[in-house]
Amino acid sequence: MRPLLAALMAAAIASAADPDRTARLLEELSNAFGPSGYEEDVRAIMRRELAPFSDSLETDGLGSLIAVSKKSPDAPRVMMAAHMDELGMIVRYITPEGYLKFVTLGGWLDQGLINQRYWVKTRKGPVLGVTGLKTPHVMTGDERTRLKLRDEIFIDIGAKSKADAEQRFGVRPGDPIAPDSKFTTMGDGSLYLGKAWDDRVGCAVIVEVMRKLKSSPANVNVYAVATVQEEIGLRGAQTSSHLVKPDIGISLESGVASDYPGIRQEEAQERLGAGASMFLHDSSMIPTLSFRDFVIDLAKARAIPLQFNVLSGYGEDGAEMQKSYSGIPAVNITVPTRYLHNHNGIIARSDFDHVVNLVTALIQQLDKPTIDKLKRFN
Ligand SMILES: [Zn+2]
Repeated sequence: MRPLLAALMAAAIASAADPDRTARLLEELSNAFGPSGYEEDVRAIMRRELAPFSDSLETDGLGSLIAVSKKSPDAPRVMMAAHMDELGMIVRYITPEGYLKFVTLGGWLDQGLINQRYWVKTRKGPVLGVTGLKTPHVMTGDERTRLKLRDEIFIDIGAKSKADAEQRFGVRPGDPIAPDSKFTTMGDGSLYLGKAWDDRVGCAVIVEVMRKLKSSPANVNVYAVATVQEEIGLRGAQTSSHLVKPDIGISLESGVASDYPGIRQEEAQERLGAGASMFLHDSSMIPTLSFRDFVIDLAKARAIPLQFNVLSGYGEDGAEMQKSYSGIPAVNITVPTRYLHNHNGIIARSDFDHVVNLVTALIQQLDKPTIDKLKRFN
């Protein structure tokens, strides 16, 4: 390695080695293994982090974690939700040669799956694998330009045969698989590169908001919910909303940044470093208009930068809260994220801090008369 490069890398590692508590939490959550339906590692982190700020902690029947900070029995119930699951796969079967075929969990692009490292969680522990891709040396012209489809892709764990994969590595059909992608800071240190910001960044927001509410309590009962199985159909938000019976809902998500080449404003409008963001439309939800305007006015009054996103696709837990029972006010507030649903995404620390401040202020502003007003239609 060249001396200058070595010095630069040492400096980068040193700055990454002394992050603050929030950065360490974001790092731990980003690195954690937890594809949809297999969120146990993330749930353990969330349980540990939320316990000091909660009067009770419970799980629903699907595995969503519900931490409650109680004001009084008849105070309104404010639910904030972020999902613990990330995109991943499940082992479908093992080929006679010992390669793993899989089914995907969540909205992967086929080209995002190829020639990447993954962890397979087996009964004998984690096993590193790579999605092998034939070398271009032996490809015809046609083959070089053709996209590989997910059914053609396999994971190579270095097994010698099906029996070797089963016996030495402990692989079984149904074992979960998640990307291997380590957190690091980048740029001037204020950008965080890692996997699974969708939606570990929302999980971290929940923890930091609960921390702030501990020293400056709200006038409502706060339900901090870390949901499961969002990426495969908002399943945990549905069951946890049923348990919580919220009066109002705040979904916390990774947003869709559009500040890089090849993505158009017609597709998304958030930018990294431009503050918190709120969705005004996605394919699962339109924010409740009274609540939307309440958030906009509050951000303005507190001088918290707030941007907006109008998306055609995307689904989020806010939709399940909003549709629970006879319907409640709900919004989706986001930390802008580049390249989500891939092995590597980028967030800006300043945006994260703005979201924490906005959501904390929002919950502190909510009380029974305010929520009643937000629920009223002409
Ligand atoms: Zn998400």
